[in-house]
Amino acid sequence: MDNSTLSFCKKLPKLELHAHLNGSISDKTLLELSQTLDNKGTNYDNIKQFIMGCKDRSLEECFKMFSLIHSMTVSASIIRKVTKDVIEDFAGDGVVYLELRSTPRQVEGSMTKNEYMDAIIESIRESKELYPIIVKLIVSIDRKSGVTEAEENLELAIQAKEANPDIVLGIDFSGNPAIGEIDDFIPVLQCAQKSGFSLAIHCAEVPCELETKKILQLNPERLGHATCIHPDAGGSDELWKTLIESKIPVELCLTSNVKTSTVKDYRNHHFDHLYKIGHPIVLGTDDKGVFSTSLSDEYCIAAKTFELDNDQLWQLSYDSINYAFASEYEKEKLQKILKDWKQNITGNSKID
Ligand SMILES: [Zn+2]
Repeated sequence: MDNSTLSFCKKLPKLELHAHLNGSISDKTLLELSQTLDNKGTNYDNIKQFIMGCKDRSLEECFKMFSLIHSMTVSASIIRKVTKDVIEDFAGDGVVYLELRSTPRQVEGSMTKNEYMDAIIESIRESKELYPIIVKLIVSIDRKSGVTEAEENLELAIQAKEANPDIVLGIDFSGNPAIGEIDDFIPVLQCAQKSGFSLAIHCAEVPCELETKKILQLNPERLGHATCIHPDAGGSDELWKTLIESKIPVELCLTSNVKTSTVKDYRNHHFDHLYKIGHPIVLGTDDKGVFSTSLSDEYCIAAKTFELDNDQLWQLSYDSINYAFASEYEKEKLQKILKDWKQNITGNSKID
């Protein structure tokens, strides 16, 4: 990859709007956890070897990483640490605004869902003093866990939002797209809208025209992936037209889609179609730890694959401010950061 483009992408102030907390945990943090976790009966040498041994992970190894992370994030103190580390990673990658998403989780005898949420929110609050980054929380509803749990998690999110209106801003709908009927979840998602949440919905990760139509009818603030909407990717002309007319911003995660084989390769990613017609899009990492990527890498891959110059990369980042769930005041602050940065590098005429 062109070094000057990578260097530009690293320095460019960026917004990350599609990051799952657990999948974003770095190998370094996992190795630290494996050394400090007091969890007898687990062979941490094997875990260390596994983490260090697979840098360019296969899909199978990625799934193994998810279950490994799940088995290690079992207490509020661990959640505080991983949240802090993930925020630090993003800040170190030039991310100035981050929306982290996570499903409330309880671990019998160790952590309640409330404690899980509080741990994340606490770390987000602490990060304000530590890093030059604004961080928000999106509460995830996992379709795999069913409607009762979705209702319970929305209730938790409402309480957390009331106590932390500056941090808890959105609801995410995610999980295995092959499980659960969208009709069952629509009342919960509508209730979230009425409760003042912005919605970020994983959409069309597999071809499913009817479900995609119903999600678009909900008019969420953002869509995750929207992979199988274009006729070339298992969608249809009608569905594509509906998406384009909706102008709903789409969160695009290039590496994640290629690694999980929902998209054949970077060249065939629907970034191309959406970017060319000026549809609102924002680049995201999805699970930067598991997929061994960073937001700078994603910008760089987009630049290389779709021949974007530095001005276009800057514009991509600048436009994504419009799609953040942040307040107008925070958006103005972000616009100033991006404009000042551009003026600064233009003034210096050379980016190294
Ligand atoms: Zn995702």
